[in-house]
Amino acid sequence: MPNKPFPSKRAPYYNDIPDEKWTDWRWQLSHRLNTVDDFENLFPLTEGEREALSQTGLFRVDVTPYFASLIDPDNPDDPIRKQVVPTEKELIPFTGMMEDSLAEDMHSPVPGLVHRYPDRVLMLITNTCASYCRYCTRARLVGDPTQSFSSQDFEAQLDYLRRTPQVRDVLLSGGDPLTLAPKVLERVLKSLREIEHIEIIRIGSRVPVFMPQRITAELTDMLQQYHPLWINIHVNHPNEITAELAEACDKLTRAGIPLGNQSVLLAGVNDDPYLMRQLVQDLVRIRVRPYYIYQCDLVAGAGHFRTPVAKGLEIMEALRGHTSGFSVPTYVIDAPGGGGKIPVAPNYLLSMSDHRIVLRNFEGFITSYEEPLDYQRPPKALTEAYRPKKSTGQEGVFSLLEGQSMTIKPEGFDRLHLRGGEQHRLRKDKNKWKALGIGDKEEDKEEE
Ligand code: SF4
Repeated sequence: MPNKPFPSKRAPYYNDIPDEKWTDWRWQLSHRLNTVDDFENLFPLTEGEREALSQTGLFRVDVTPYFASLIDPDNPDDPIRKQVVPTEKELIPFTGMMEDSLAEDMHSPVPGLVHRYPDRVLMLITNTCASYCRYCTRARLVGDPTQSFSSQDFEAQLDYLRRTPQVRDVLLSGGDPLTLAPKVLERVLKSLREIEHIEIIRIGSRVPVFMPQRITAELTDMLQQYHPLWINIHVNHPNEITAELAEACDKLTRAGIPLGNQSVLLAGVNDDPYLMRQLVQDLVRIRVRPYYIYQCDLVAGAGHFRTPVAKGLEIMEALRGHTSGFSVPTYVIDAPGGGGKIPVAPNYLLSMSDHRIVLRNFEGFITSYEEPLDYQRPPKALTEAYRPKKSTGQEGVFSLLEGQSMTIKPEGFDRLHLRGGEQHRLRKDKNKWKALGIGDKEEDKEEE
């Protein structure tokens, strides 16, 4: 028996629209909903929604007719509606909220190019989206025409990439790169492909979800000239998986583009273990690998979407072991202040001795693993060729395992522990704190 098909919906208000218009992404873009009247053609708004839509200075509102049609008109708590229709709750400030909670602009050597990790960058090339998510991390830039990236910004981004050979992976985002005119997007891809050290190009896009009509043969024919190219889409709820999204993903995967999914954990939208299990299983059915579940960022306007971190751990407990391993995403907290993604997971390692570890599985079955007593690292000659010749300065905790350094200290640690005593006779000989054999290698010294 074939799998249950995914639904295809069109709100009754659009019944008279001819199919050739409905399936044209340009029509979808130019008929987006953004006013009280637009939405009330589809469903009655709540007082809070009406209040929010009447505010000035609110994060931009625009919803494609296709995506708005997925909303149940009789349910004010519909999970699709909550993602795109503003409410008065966006106006409520909360402790910890920030404009740029991931400190992206601080980690940008040039505008729109976030270089946070050693070998990859995030390149913001547009600030427009097909629809706007109420919890958007980049609400400070996205949807605001005064914050558009200029051709000079783009040139500066490329110039930085040309002179930074450690970058081998570029993630194009924004905004949504697939809203760009195909020629403009192609120019970006071509320019990146001309830089020899850039191995991988990735695109982060919610266009297949908001406007699957955009995934045309013309687009996939263009994209597949720039392999290796990966795309991550952004689906939060099983109701977003429709026949149209399945078809768009099919076109992309047939063009050889591996697809991943990023979800944001959102209160009242997808904060339930069984719902999330359904989501990841449906994603795999349309050949999209669940990649991340993000804890909701501390971004202004999104306070009401946050859940306790324990909710994410509960969801992970309900996924790992309960469904196929490749359906299980990594749950991450994008570190406030710019520390990057930090994975968090339930604890499966219960205890350890010098040669045995004790583990538990998803069922609570407790087992032990016998470790070898005579383990030897592989001979250096076998692995030497893979070791980087130069430090990136971001080896971090791994550098402790490698013996490149003994400690990692918070800023100001040494000064604080001088306690105002400065130099005295017992502090003169710094060699007394030098650990034998740690950080001795020539290449490590060069970097000091
Ligand atoms: S699609 Fe992405 S960039 Fe655009 S509003 Fe949603 S979260 Fe923000």
